[in-house]
Amino acid sequence: MQTPSHSRTRHGRRARRSGRYSISFLTLMVCAAALMLWAAAARLSVLINDNQTADAPDSVASTDQKDTVLQSPSVDSTPPLATPLIPEPVETESGEDEEPATEPGQTVPMQAAELPWNLTLVNWEHPLPEDYSAPELVQLRNNQAIDARAYPDLQNMMDAARAEGLSPLICSSFRTYEDQEQLYQDQVELELRRGYQEGEAEEQAAFWVARPGTSEHEMGLAVDIVDTNYQILDQRQENTAVQRWLMEHCWEYGFILRYPTDKSAITHIGYEPWHYRYVGKESAKAIIESGLCLEEYLGGLGIGNGSTEKGTGNER
Ligand SMILES: [Zn+2]
Repeated sequence: MQTPSHSRTRHGRRARRSGRYSISFLTLMVCAAALMLWAAAARLSVLINDNQTADAPDSVASTDQKDTVLQSPSVDSTPPLATPLIPEPVETESGEDEEPATEPGQTVPMQAAELPWNLTLVNWEHPLPEDYSAPELVQLRNNQAIDARAYPDLQNMMDAARAEGLSPLICSSFRTYEDQEQLYQDQVELELRRGYQEGEAEEQAAFWVARPGTSEHEMGLAVDIVDTNYQILDQRQENTAVQRWLMEHCWEYGFILRYPTDKSAITHIGYEPWHYRYVGKESAKAIIESGLCLEEYLGGLGIGNGSTEKGTGNER
């Protein structure tokens, strides 16, 4: 009765022994495979380390540079005169992609009807239509008025400037055609007194006061703002605290300095560090970032007829 059990035991021992051999062989194979993997991994690690060593200094340097760039605007926050501060990098301008592409050199006549109300281009070569009627206006203090749609942003800008302890004063805004005609004639008289002949006097006057029918003031989208402490309309206006603030912040409220000092050849209007034009916040930001004047900006969108290439006979 023991044999079967003994035999079973012996048989079982042999089976266990052969199982032990199988396990040992497997272990050996696994170890060998692990060794090969380890060797391969070690080789790979050497390669990776080599590459990292080469890249490391650049990566560190570029991180440092990025921090420096981010910090620099706050270090030097003095705005260049007549060139309002650019908030941040350029590139992603809305609108541009949505506009139809224009072939190089192709000129597209302005389609006033296609423009948003606040981007209407009015200048020496784009007069208002003869049947133009003024928009709904909001009456301001001192007999001033502005397009009702631009009013909230103007009010916010004035409030913000005053909150900074400044004293901005709107000295001119909406004008009728007749108002503009009177101003223009007054300027012609002045130029005649200065010794210009009649034709020259008119040309000269138009450099400082737009001819009637060609002024943004007639649209109710332009305001002349001065510093209460210095109300003279000359170049020194740009040094006032109000203008320094406005030139830096006007775009935040949808306004641009319309006639910058370096764009007279394109705008045909002398430098006016007091004339702000409402174009809406999105366009104001894009225009300020691009460093373009309104004519150039609209030309780039395929609107207008490429005034950027035009020369002028009356820059000073
Ligand atoms: Zn003006």
